[in-house]
Amino acid sequence: MVDTIYVDAHAHLDRYGMEITQVLTDLQQKKIVTLAVSMDPESYIKTLHLSNSNSWIIPAFGIHPWEAYKHVRNLDMIRWHMSKSPFFGEIGLDFYFVKDRTHYPVQVEMFKLFLAEATQQGKLVNIHTKGAERETCDLLRAFKTEQVIVHWYSGAQTHLKKLIKFGCYFSILKSPLFNNKDLWVRGLEMLHRYPVVFW
Ligand SMILES: [Zn+2]
Repeated sequence: MVDTIYVDAHAHLDRYGMEITQVLTDLQQKKIVTLAVSMDPESYIKTLHLSNSNSWIIPAFGIHPWEAYKHVRNLDMIRWHMSKSPFFGEIGLDFYFVKDRTHYPVQVEMFKLFLAEATQQGKLVNIHTKGAERETCDLLRAFKTEQVIVHWYSGAQTHLKKLIKFGCYFSILKSPLFNNKDLWVRGLEMLHRYPVVFW
């Protein structure tokens, strides 16, 4: 009999509190390969530590678009982590939840930096895109990014079709209680319409 192996395509393991011990046991017992993304260098280091004692965790370095403005001066350190990380995430653009427009150019610069390295190093990227789907499509095309998981897509159908055409995979946030309900419903509709989209 072949064992079933699950893949969690987008997890923030460093953000668990006391429950982390149970979570780590679950990964092992239920055989869940976990793509563990990070928000910034600090969260990456925590995820790395967790992965040292649990072979089901694949840790990823990323600078989340919400955090990009804090790290533009640390490019050497970012490049060093990128060279070690097996894939990149969470990275991307957010012009929806981030209201301060002065942060947008910095988000774009940071995203470009990761996409360029991903193409050069042949690495997968785990992407967040909110209210910036057109810009995300344009940059993925410009950098010829090939291995892409788009997390929690909730944009227009036009851009979704482009992303599917690029060969992107999609992950959808599971808890309707944790985040914006409209976005959750839109994700479910997408799942019904495009069977290529998966959890
Ligand atoms: Zn995330």
